[in-house]
Amino acid sequence: MEIVVLRLGHRPERDQRVTTHVGLVGRALGAKGMLLAANDQGIERSITKVTKQWGGNFFVKTGVNWRAELASWRQSGGKVCHLTMYGENILEVIPEIRAEMKKENAHLMVVVGAEKVPFEVFEAADWNVAVSNQPHSEVAALALLLDHLHEGRELKAVFEHAELQIVPKKRGKEVIVTKRV
Ligand code: SAM
Repeated sequence: MEIVVLRLGHRPERDQRVTTHVGLVGRALGAKGMLLAANDQGIERSITKVTKQWGGNFFVKTGVNWRAELASWRQSGGKVCHLTMYGENILEVIPEIRAEMKKENAHLMVVVGAEKVPFEVFEAADWNVAVSNQPHSEVAALALLLDHLHEGRELKAVFEHAELQIVPKKRGKEVIVTKRV
């Protein structure tokens, strides 16, 4: 299942931490990359550093034109899921999204906002999905969507080429350090 997160409305002066967390959650829970509709090289650098150390191939692309990305995604047959508290409840729509994602070459763009999301996005989305119909956080909404989509399997994913790897322990901390040759 190929999933890319599109982050809209990022304001570099106030959203850096939350947008970084959107990327980190996307990476940790099975997305392939994050498109950021704003110029913020710092976010790209910090998530790329995490990927270098902790493995996988997660990409971050900043400064994208969200309209063009959405249009070309849809043109290539990709589906779009917009996370919004105004949408249909996740429990109602997740079986349909999962079924779509099982089809050959299925790919899903998950759109999350920061400030007010343009109505155009609501119209372009195949699904406007609410993770409860209460206001909360794009980080939490993304995490729960990815978890419901993968039915928990993403929590056991192995990240390739990791320099750092945690050995799960009941108590204490153990990290295997493997430098690339
Ligand atoms: N005030 C903004 C508006 O009216 O569109 C939304 C701010 S909210 C903190 C930022 C983002 O979190 C939203 O664009 C949405 O992607 C996500 N979000 C917040 N609550 C959500 C919910 N209950 N379900 C799904 N996504 C949610």
